[in-house]
Amino acid sequence: MIIKEAKFISSNTEVAKCPETKLPEYAFIGRSNVGKSSLINMLTERSKLAKTSSLPGKTQLINHFLINDTWYLVDLPGYGWARVSQTSREKWSKMVKAYLRNRSNLACVFLLIDSRLEPQKSDLDFIQLLGEMGVPFVLVFTKTDKQSIQKTQANIAAFRRTLLQTWEELPQQFITSSAEKKGREELLQLIEQTNAE
Ligand code: GDP
Repeated sequence: MIIKEAKFISSNTEVAKCPETKLPEYAFIGRSNVGKSSLINMLTERSKLAKTSSLPGKTQLINHFLINDTWYLVDLPGYGWARVSQTSREKWSKMVKAYLRNRSNLACVFLLIDSRLEPQKSDLDFIQLLGEMGVPFVLVFTKTDKQSIQKTQANIAAFRRTLLQTWEELPQQFITSSAEKKGREELLQLIEQTNAE
């Protein structure tokens, strides 16, 4: 897919205020610092579309971008900041759950996982939530340029093993690096195929 146009549309704290549309949308989420902004910018080839390295405590927003006038890319607020208040955590949880529950045009969630880490509880908890809510999702392993292919494969294998303790089937998995533009075509192809269905 060629990204001809990527337009910022809106930032919202409430799902009810998100754009009214029948166009499909694809949401990106993960632990803070997982490389979400970098991945969004890499996918759209716009270096500043998503703002990188936001600080904890900043307003948590649902950001909508319209791509090629045919689908929405949604940047959801990340989770897992070490030092945020219980109130902020609850606000995040309420907002993201409302988004997942009410956004009827949501085609797929791209859950970003840092390929350098062993399975993290916050990621596993979020996968559990997606499963309970019946939201389609895929796993996107990030920052794979930071280590050897062998190490990436070992970490992904460990993640798969952990998931298989509770899941019968595994979601689709992607190996990416924003620094090396790796995985871009594969992710865009998934979006293109889903849009065509
Ligand atoms: P976000 O908080 O999830 O949006 O994460 P960012 O995109 O801001 O990335 C966090 C940090 O990781 C930044 O310093 C990025 O430059 C770095 N980073 C993100 N993706 C990659 C990648 O694929 N490779 C490398 N080497 N660094 C990355």
